[in-house]
Amino acid sequence: MMRMTVLASGSKGNSTVVSTSRTRVLVDAGMSCRELMRRMAAAGEDASTLDAILITHEHQDHVAGLGVLARKLKIPVYITEPTHRAWVRMLTPRTTMTYAQWLDQRQQEREAAAAELATREAMAPGAGDVIEQIFAESDAEIVQEAQADSIPAGIEPEQVVAASESATPPAKDLTALPSYLPAVEHFSAGLRFCIGDIEIDPLTIPHDAADPCGFVFSADGLRIAIATDLGYMPQNVKQAIRRCDVLMLESNHDLEMLRDGPYPWSVKQRVMSRVGHLSNDAAAQFLEEEYDGAAAHIILAHLSESNNLPSLARLAAEHALARHMTLLGNKLSLASQSEPMQPILL
Ligand SMILES: [Zn+2]
Ligand SMILES: [Zn+2]
Repeated sequence: MMRMTVLASGSKGNSTVVSTSRTRVLVDAGMSCRELMRRMAAAGEDASTLDAILITHEHQDHVAGLGVLARKLKIPVYITEPTHRAWVRMLTPRTTMTYAQWLDQRQQEREAAAAELATREAMAPGAGDVIEQIFAESDAEIVQEAQADSIPAGIEPEQVVAASESATPPAKDLTALPSYLPAVEHFSAGLRFCIGDIEIDPLTIPHDAADPCGFVFSADGLRIAIATDLGYMPQNVKQAIRRCDVLMLESNHDLEMLRDGPYPWSVKQRVMSRVGHLSNDAAAQFLEEEYDGAAAHIILAHLSESNNLPSLARLAAEHALARHMTLLGNKLSLASQSEPMQPILL
């Protein structure tokens, strides 16, 4: 038997429980710990019996409650190494400087150096060229550092990553950090791994995050696929989600609503891009042209609240399924942002 309960789905938070009679995994923790606990209780999912948290990618709507929940339940987090690092960097305090402040500081340093040069020149003519060269080199270094996008204060992100991976308990000041996790298991996209009696195939998906993944879960001859947050349906995903009993598929936006909607043009472009989100039309096109019809349940997920309507997402998918008599047995449902779905039992 397998069971799946979508606790929340959408740009304000994503989280789903996938379980067998022996193993229980929470996929993403994209709401506050308190809200996740409340939803699990409401859906009849006992949080204290979860075995692990599994993360798709580091966007806030997938990790908002991750640190607090993992520390509270003292359970391991399964995450790819690039996603783990990106998440730790996101939460590590950094001292940043505006470009104007930086220019200001450089100017003061130059003036101090010029003053020193004037003193030296008086003693050794020609030293001016050397000072200019030193400045050109150190400018290049500073620009490189700024491009590395984080200048952490005090504690390096690497220290936190290493402490979370380590079997020996780290120093107290590390465990107090928001990015500290009691236990971490790194997995790699494309390489199957197990949590208890659930086999997990992590799939690379096209999305603007460090190392985003979709998943296919298998146990007892049953298969559940989660494919949200993807700009388009790549070949590896189409192939991996064949013969699934449950298919949770993104149906993020209606293209016209997105075009005419409130987002700035840059955000609209990001959503529509090949590393953004799957539209109703793209999801429907996959269902109509390439889906194998194996799933007893299709769940449309990650619906945008600003750029979609449940009725539009449903219509597009129903229209696609209606073209194939063999697909009439597929039960179509919509995952919601505001409340957990009824558990699906296989
Ligand atoms: Zn995302
Ligand atoms: Zn998302």
